[in-house]
Amino acid sequence: MSKMMDTYARQPVTFEKGEGIWLWAKDGKKYLDALSGVAVNGLGHTHPKLIKAINEQISRLIHVSNVYHIAEQERLAEKLTAISYMDNVFFCNSGCEANEAAIKLARLFGHQKGIDTPEIIVMEKAFHGRTMATLSATGNRKTQAGFEPLVGGFIRAAFDDLEAIQQIASRKNNVVAILVEPIQGEGGINIPNNIQNYLKGLRAVCDEHDWLLMFDEVQSGIGRTGKWFAHQHTSVQPDVMTLAKGLGSGVPIGACLAKGRASKVFTPGKHGSTFGGNPLATAAGFATLTIIEEDKLCSHASKMGALINEEFTKHLKDCPQVKVIRNLGLMIGIELDHPCGDLTKLALNEGLLINVTAEKVIRLLPPLVINDMEVKELAERLSQVIKNFLAK
Ligand SMILES: *Cc1c(COP(=O)(O)O)cnc(C)c1O
Repeated sequence: MSKMMDTYARQPVTFEKGEGIWLWAKDGKKYLDALSGVAVNGLGHTHPKLIKAINEQISRLIHVSNVYHIAEQERLAEKLTAISYMDNVFFCNSGCEANEAAIKLARLFGHQKGIDTPEIIVMEKAFHGRTMATLSATGNRKTQAGFEPLVGGFIRAAFDDLEAIQQIASRKNNVVAILVEPIQGEGGINIPNNIQNYLKGLRAVCDEHDWLLMFDEVQSGIGRTGKWFAHQHTSVQPDVMTLAKGLGSGVPIGACLAKGRASKVFTPGKHGSTFGGNPLATAAGFATLTIIEEDKLCSHASKMGALINEEFTKHLKDCPQVKVIRNLGLMIGIELDHPCGDLTKLALNEGLLINVTAEKVIRLLPPLVINDMEVKELAERLSQVIKNFLAK
């Protein structure tokens, strides 16, 4: 019996080493990793430049307290604000923590302007994490069930529905922010019908009512969609943005970025973290961004995303049960007309690491470094698994 708490339905495999998009299990079997540890290993496994940077940092300094200045985090903050056009950053250790920071920031912003019971608009099918506040913000009853009482102060609206936001605006005067994933990940790779119009519409309501527009880019950020951040496919600039997953290439790190008035909300003592932004994590973050830039991985992800869509469309064109194949860069969803959770195991047997989310959506989040040949191999092999599954 495992001594681990029973929080995961684990697949029966243990990995020993990795290289690029490939992983090897203890029994020697080779797997194509089309999940990247859920959008974490954007550089693939054991990227030589990343290992060099992390090794160099570990041999010099791993951790010092945030009561001191930390050069490595200043350097990452410079880089992150430059590529995002944001003003400043709070570093933490995960996606839910980044969202906790955003939620606290929004509430404090409300209190500072005299709103005593601030509320934040969140979306149906959203995923923001597993801490009490972030699971309360999450739009999935399964994540919440059994943990009531939930944290209050959230109002739910349908995703990609500007009218729903307008309605809330017309009847509430204590809203302080909208928290939204520009593309929903866990919710099923849901891309707004017109992302420019949707985010622009959200920006307009926020400006009209002095709310903060907060983007959760924990999954969609760091090159995943073919831009540094998914919202950069539009002209819209958020007031707050949260990051984690791909930022440290596997070294735990999260970030909450703010701009303009949102960047002046926190003052000493209002928020903090023991590990957040330590030298090791921020060196890994800086190396990740540097490598993505040097190796032009954003535009590469964009090209590979288009190729993946093309290849799967070709292989699955005669399957009426495949409803739609959608992607923005390397955030890919293949939606079937019925639940397909079993596919994860079937693909694993064939040496393919994938994920099924929202019951019917095959989710692919391959490393940004995946190449043409590997895309074609993935599409061919996974399409066969899907066809076998559909034929049963
Ligand atoms: C994964 C995810 C989170 C939570 O991140 P953790 O690091 O697991 O806490 C939050 N928001 C989005 C959009 C995510 O995909």
